[in-house]
Amino acid sequence: MTDTQSYLFYQTRTPRPFLDRGEGIYLYDESGKRYIDASSGAMVSNIGHSNPRVLAKMKAQMDKATFGYRLHFRTHPSEDLAAKTVAMTPDGLDRVFFVSGGSEAVESAVKLARQCALATGQGRRHKVISRYPSYHGCTFGALDLTGYDPLREPFAPMMEGMPKVAAPTTYLDRDALSEEERGIRYAELLRDKIEEAGPDTVLAFLMEPIGGASTGALVAPDSYYTRIREICDAYGVLLIFDEVMSGAGRTGKFLAAEHWGITPDIVALSKGFGAGYAPLGAIIAGARLVEPVLDSGGFQHGFTYAGNPLACAAGLAVLEELENHNLIENAARMGEVLKAKLQALMARYPIIGDVRGKGLLLAFELVADRETMQPLPKDWNAHARLVEIAYDLGLIIYSRRTRGGIEGDHFLICPPLVITEPQIDEIMHLLDTALARYAEEIAA
Ligand code: PLP
Repeated sequence: MTDTQSYLFYQTRTPRPFLDRGEGIYLYDESGKRYIDASSGAMVSNIGHSNPRVLAKMKAQMDKATFGYRLHFRTHPSEDLAAKTVAMTPDGLDRVFFVSGGSEAVESAVKLARQCALATGQGRRHKVISRYPSYHGCTFGALDLTGYDPLREPFAPMMEGMPKVAAPTTYLDRDALSEEERGIRYAELLRDKIEEAGPDTVLAFLMEPIGGASTGALVAPDSYYTRIREICDAYGVLLIFDEVMSGAGRTGKFLAAEHWGITPDIVALSKGFGAGYAPLGAIIAGARLVEPVLDSGGFQHGFTYAGNPLACAAGLAVLEELENHNLIENAARMGEVLKAKLQALMARYPIIGDVRGKGLLLAFELVADRETMQPLPKDWNAHARLVEIAYDLGLIIYSRRTRGGIEGDHFLICPPLVITEPQIDEIMHLLDTALARYAEEIAA
């Protein structure tokens, strides 16, 4: 197979070099060129690449059995991973269901919510309110809950069209409200939407506690989270957190929800949960929700590969790495360092309009005018161009052009949680060079 010939197809035709190997925060292509994986792939490789302890534990499991169907056998890796997940999660979330990816996790969370409503005599509840913008996955159910037009539009006629509320893009607001008031104002949009939809028909509210690709690491004011929880409780609406990207330690807590001391009813995990060692995801929910479902005939849902022992052995080894090497604390500490260095870049690059995020789920946004937050012209293609310049320099970052109803170029800087301060300086050096080249290009 040559560099240009391929029978595969993905989203685009952008040719990329062949990957050779990974080591910690670095990836190497077949020519020997080294890249810093400053986006952990797609915010996946939380413990870095090719961790020898994880590989050894996977190999040990491979030598025993790579698959045993969950209806035929219990397995130690799946039981142990469920127990460890519950132990690392706030109280009240103590039942686990495994899947193989983020879209599956979101769909499973919604289907558990629906079956719980049926099992408790609330069969009219079927609407799931989500946010705009948001990203919850590509399968039909998850896509219907996703607020991202380019992915939705081709398939819109094939979906029901679940209700949406605006995600709090507070950094764009120019009103006189305090942060706290803004948080409440955005949260109250949920109440309005529940009233409009008919309170006894609303099953759940689904949100990313910190947006990933959708909003570029957007963190809402604290008041937003507590008010959302209150509104869901008041209406008997289940609160589902999509922590596919923000979970498994990325934001400096195991779940991002812990930053606000609120407990969602169901949490969806994937990405960093398997950390690139195996396709793996999970939903975590309270026994309060799960037991009525099991008592009324069982959860009518499941995937063939769910809970397979090899993926679970990998997931267990990943959680052990997080714990044994204090990687969640490191994400919190290094996140502060990286964020401060990104903020310092704003002094030299007026096109950086905003730096945001928590832990190592960080992003910056490029704008034409920092005061008005006007985006760069669309045909400058900043989100793609800066990524390409960085890639040539050996720095991998992740970008999107979307923010609420208007466009904007944001760039996620989300290195593996094992990152050290000298490695952050390597990222900053390359990013600085890439920004300088991009600034020269647009000035020309
Ligand atoms: N939810 C969130 C918040 C995500 O970021 C993603 C993927 O980017 C998904 C769900 C979908 O996950 P997957 O691509 O593994 O199906």
